[in-house]
Amino acid sequence: MAEVLVYVDHVDGAVRKPTLELLTIARRIGEPVAVHLGPGAEAAAKVLGEHGATRVLAADAPEFADYLVVPKVDALEAAAKAVGPAAVLVPSSAEGKEIAARLALRLGSGIITDAVDVEAGADGPVATQSAFAAAFSTRSTVRKGAPVITVKPNAAPVEAAPAAGAVEPLEVSFGELATGTKVVSRTPRQSTGRPELTEAAIVVSGGRGVNGAENFSVIEALADSLGAAVGASRAAVDAGWYPHSNQVGQTGKSVSPQLYIANGISGAIQHRAGMQTSKTIVAVNKDAEAPIFDLVDYGVVGDLFNVVPQLTEEVKARKG
Ligand SMILES: Cc1cc2nc3c(=O)[nH]c(=O)nc-3n(C[C@H](O)[C@H](O)[C@H](O)COP(=O)(O)OP(=O)(O)OC[C@H]3O[C@@H](n4cnc5c(N)ncnc54)[C@H](O)[C@@H]3O)c2cc1C
Repeated sequence: MAEVLVYVDHVDGAVRKPTLELLTIARRIGEPVAVHLGPGAEAAAKVLGEHGATRVLAADAPEFADYLVVPKVDALEAAAKAVGPAAVLVPSSAEGKEIAARLALRLGSGIITDAVDVEAGADGPVATQSAFAAAFSTRSTVRKGAPVITVKPNAAPVEAAPAAGAVEPLEVSFGELATGTKVVSRTPRQSTGRPELTEAAIVVSGGRGVNGAENFSVIEALADSLGAAVGASRAAVDAGWYPHSNQVGQTGKSVSPQLYIANGISGAIQHRAGMQTSKTIVAVNKDAEAPIFDLVDYGVVGDLFNVVPQLTEEVKARKG
């Protein structure tokens, strides 16, 4: 069976959830082979093996941490040349997309970015993308070279599928461009303890209806009861009620969780562009005519300050 390369996104060997989702997708197309760059390959290989990776090609070098993406592209190119894969899957983060684009160029391959689903097809993997503020879905195949596909978080479930996960060294020689852009400092962001917005399975968002920074505690309480990330509309962000890093939409982040709960958000096209591919959408809005109700699976017409705390209490009660 043809092998499929999966680029591993990890923090010191702790594999992030979108990579495990890529392994589910890789198994639909062929045999997953993970590419792990940086420290922690042995620890990562255990998890990667549990989720279907037959082999884990590993390389560690200071270049991966000290410079921007080019060393990683060098390594992924070496892996692709060694394996001759049926496809290369990369998480759709900003870094992932830059790596994928550079890799596709080097391999002379076609690239598909921001896939929300990938299936096996007669002529190679078929990727589904969501276009024009999710008003259309497109299905595409790559016609030249090994397809390089970046896949959005939550595009597939994480599934256990025990495989060998055997660690094998990957030989990498860095090109002269690899050390062109050095990382000179890193400042860790203060952790909220909540999941990363773009990776979260559940996102609870607040908009202008939240009516003040201090009231976002209502949104956060619901998010925490569900183990969710917190999002915000641009109106809420522009008012200074919530950080820009939490903005969902065309000029914010694009999320595709299993569940999106919009509170006091009208559903402007630019907001929809960032959340319309969510699997289940719930809205709480006091205006029954709000456009958000056109796209929801469940809608509550009511005052969020009345509805959301009750929802939070109900979730907590059910969790026991
Ligand atoms: C180029 C461009 C890019 C943009 N990018 C983005 C983007 O990335 N993300 C984004 O979100 N927007 C973006 N916008 C802005 C977008 O057009 C809207 O202005 C914005 O999304 C509105 O935010 P909102 O829904 O929170 O506010 P509003 O449209 O004002 O809606 C507030 C809603 O809250 C409801 N409400 C009020 N009080 C309560 C209450 N107590 N209980 C329940 N409901 C209540 C109201 O009925 C109303 O429906 C962009 C605009 C442009 C032009």
